[in-house]
Amino acid sequence: MPSTSTIKNNKVLSQEVSETSIEESDVSGSEGDYVSWVSWFCNLKGHEFFCEVDDDYIQDDFNLCGLSSQVPYYDYALDLILDFESSHGDKLDEEHNSLVESAAEMLYGLIHSRYILTSKGMSAMLEKYNSNEFGTCPRAYCSEQSCLPVGQSDIPRSSYVRIYCPRCQDIYLPRTRYQYAIDGAYFGSTFPHLFLMTYEHLKPQQPQPDARSYIPKVFGFKVHRP
Ligand SMILES: [Zn+2]
Repeated sequence: MPSTSTIKNNKVLSQEVSETSIEESDVSGSEGDYVSWVSWFCNLKGHEFFCEVDDDYIQDDFNLCGLSSQVPYYDYALDLILDFESSHGDKLDEEHNSLVESAAEMLYGLIHSRYILTSKGMSAMLEKYNSNEFGTCPRAYCSEQSCLPVGQSDIPRSSYVRIYCPRCQDIYLPRTRYQYAIDGAYFGSTFPHLFLMTYEHLKPQQPQPDARSYIPKVFGFKVHRP
């Protein structure tokens, strides 16, 4: 279900990024121009909820256990994510390249959903939460409470990412349309709840039942159901 058509050639983009950074910061030399696939992917429009997974984590086979049977073109996709020159035979044609690119998106997403449950991943997400990158609750009584990304399912292609409000404990559509079509399994159903168990001090005080809920009134009188 989630669209995979947003993937572009990262080499082209990295060149654009490097040209812009040279123009803007007037930095000479080419050593700082390299943009990794992971960094490129996380900076795409709509990918703001993703944190950058450490290379070390991706290269540890133990962390990738079971993913090779879920992701097509697994070896090619892994090479792409890690910026390795493909060591798996002949060069692929354009059609296969685009299949590998969408497989890489899926593989990264599934690795990401595991990574954000580790202490390193969670602290990367904490940084994003503190800078409000996941958006705020649209409910007026929640007073712009910061939200966390959540999937309604851990199975790929069965739900889209939503934001969870720790105050009203409900889920909402993300702030921008670009984020609507991101697979919910790339964040998983456990993340926000484990996050709030880990960083308990961030858990907002729950309002008293009915004390902060909206009551419809007509000329000052409560509306009664017929
Ligand atoms: Zn809320």
